[in-house]
Amino acid sequence: MNIETLALLSTHFADQNAGAVAPPIYLSTTYEKAADGSLPHGYLYARMNNPNREALEKSLAALEGGTLALAFASGQAAAMTLFQALRPGDHVVVTQDAYYGTPALLEEVFSLWGLQYSRVDMADLAAVKAALRPETRLVWTETPSNPLLRITDLAAVSALAHEVGALCVCDNTWATPILLKPLELGCDIVLHSTTKYFGGHSDVLGGALVFRDETSELAQRVRRLQTLGGAIPSPFECWLVVRGIKTLATRVRAQTASAARLARFLAEHPAVEAVHYPGLESHPGHAIARAQMQDFGAMLSVQVRGGAAEALALAGRLKLVTHATSLGGVESLVEHRASVEGPNSTTPPNLLRVSVGLENVEDLEADFAQGLKD
Ligand code: PLP
Repeated sequence: MNIETLALLSTHFADQNAGAVAPPIYLSTTYEKAADGSLPHGYLYARMNNPNREALEKSLAALEGGTLALAFASGQAAAMTLFQALRPGDHVVVTQDAYYGTPALLEEVFSLWGLQYSRVDMADLAAVKAALRPETRLVWTETPSNPLLRITDLAAVSALAHEVGALCVCDNTWATPILLKPLELGCDIVLHSTTKYFGGHSDVLGGALVFRDETSELAQRVRRLQTLGGAIPSPFECWLVVRGIKTLATRVRAQTASAARLARFLAEHPAVEAVHYPGLESHPGHAIARAQMQDFGAMLSVQVRGGAAEALALAGRLKLVTHATSLGGVESLVEHRASVEGPNSTTPPNLLRVSVGLENVEDLEADFAQGLKD
């Protein structure tokens, strides 16, 4: 089945009560038991499960081709729970160019609990191999990466992880399963910040983990931590993400087409020093991206000639594009990542990250043209 149809089918809710076409929201925290104490509908208490969360998790598993999906209150809550499932002494290899919150969790939280980690350039397979240890449990990839859009060869990296018995995780927030299916390429776990493209309207925070093998010890431990720790999304948040999934494919494809055109426009502009977009033939990861992705995505980064001041000035001059954090919504956003990432940031100071929305691309080009030429 094609993914657009799967998105609709997997989010269809057969409402036995009223035949509602749009799913109802179950706010109840507790569910009635039968006289013998059994649960006639399978629901007990909202931290354990809930019809809206269950519907979201089923859809996420179907879209990624996994056997188990677990929804969380944010992408970071999902990452945190996965790290919590490891043990002191375990080792994680994480890509050099990850969303800054991932290594921040490892450094500021989990290293205090005895988790070890190394950061490597995932484009350098020899470096990945050298970083692996007998106690490595996870190899953490993110492709295209945030904010430099570096590309990781998922089949090659997951094969290296498996050689030492580690599992390979892919943060698939930017590409979404519309453009990239990490589990089909050998990865074992997919992470999403559903705050981004799945929600799609910058109005809901959420995260998810999708497992290839729900019977694995790690998957079972994460499931237990999800219900014990309770870092879960509310029924309304699940409902919003489910609604977003129904239009995910159409939004991602339209936004991607605009991003490809905007990337070429910016690459030719004299006030631009560099454009990072895997769809450009000049991008170092272009060939791998072409082979493993359906298309190149709706995110790009642009380095403006000059320094941080010029980049921030451009962000301020844009009229259609909002200067704000986050990505994946229907509205275009730019952000000066070095400011957000703080003093340890390795992001070039003249870089703006662009999340391309659903505005007409000619209007977006005109906005950048007026912003860049001043
Ligand atoms: N992963 C990536 C690639 C992200 O861009 C983000 C947020 O920007 C996250 C994870 C964290 O997600 P959340 O903000 O939902 O916790």
